[in-house]
Amino acid sequence: MKEIVAKHRIEIIIISVLLVVFIIISLIIGATSFDSSNYATCYINNEPIWSINLKEENEERTFPLSKEYSQIIIGVRNNQIAILKNDCPKQDCVHQGYVSSKATPIICAYYHVSIILEEESNVDLIVK
Ligand SMILES: [Zn+2]
Repeated sequence: MKEIVAKHRIEIIIISVLLVVFIIISLIIGATSFDSSNYATCYINNEPIWSINLKEENEERTFPLSKEYSQIIIGVRNNQIAILKNDCPKQDCVHQGYVSSKATPIICAYYHVSIILEEESNVDLIVK
């Protein structure tokens, strides 16, 4: 066994290095593609109202959902969005807090409002 190891030392080192590099690369790819959603799109009655690029939101800020729904206060911060305030009876949407995954849309059943994270914006109106 020792002889084999000595004979193939360089090969073993090369394979080990390649293995480590491969693991690092797959970790980096895995981390970045874990959730590639950039945009949050707000829908009212299934109509897209606006879209926001969450990757550009470096500082936390809040704004009303729209003029008609000014009681609904949206909060955004880096890669996350939330309904911070609403006057709906159940408050489920508010209790959801900040979300950052496509798997968990924010839904207010009372106002038929949903905020869904997507990879691309399919709305012309992008909130800045
Ligand atoms: Zn609600």
